[in-house]
Amino acid sequence: MIFHIHVYAIADKYDIPALQALAANKLAKLCDKDYDEDVFSDAIEAVYNCTRQEDQTLRKVVIMGVRRNYPMLERESKAFRALKLELPKFTNDLIDALHASAGITVVCHNCGEPFGINLAKKKEGSCVYCGRYDPDWSKYTYTEYPNG
Ligand SMILES: [Zn+2]
Repeated sequence: MIFHIHVYAIADKYDIPALQALAANKLAKLCDKDYDEDVFSDAIEAVYNCTRQEDQTLRKVVIMGVRRNYPMLERESKAFRALKLELPKFTNDLIDALHASAGITVVCHNCGEPFGINLAKKKEGSCVYCGRYDPDWSKYTYTEYPNG
């Protein structure tokens, strides 16, 4: 895993997009297999330390890898638990990804603020910003964030 991340970073530096794509693809395949939790945790750290923040490619790849196997990582890997404290950008990306999968973003028809709600569980609720209650928020889906 680390090897592909370094290849990606070097290819980025020397502007070789074809090699970047190849390295990203190889990493994605490894993240989709039964990886070793500690090796994977090192890979997450390498992605966040070796790639530019504006480039989300590998970050998305490892976040997908986390989502596949979160309970196992949390239980088996001390390195993974440490990462969540040491890499706030990673933790932030992870929360965004988990939120997107857990719920859907709706826009309040009263104050216009977007907020997350899990419509699969319940459609009713109050806006977290202005408190406006609605019995069915599914009518106010924010389409910029298609979840599913
Ligand atoms: Zn509101």
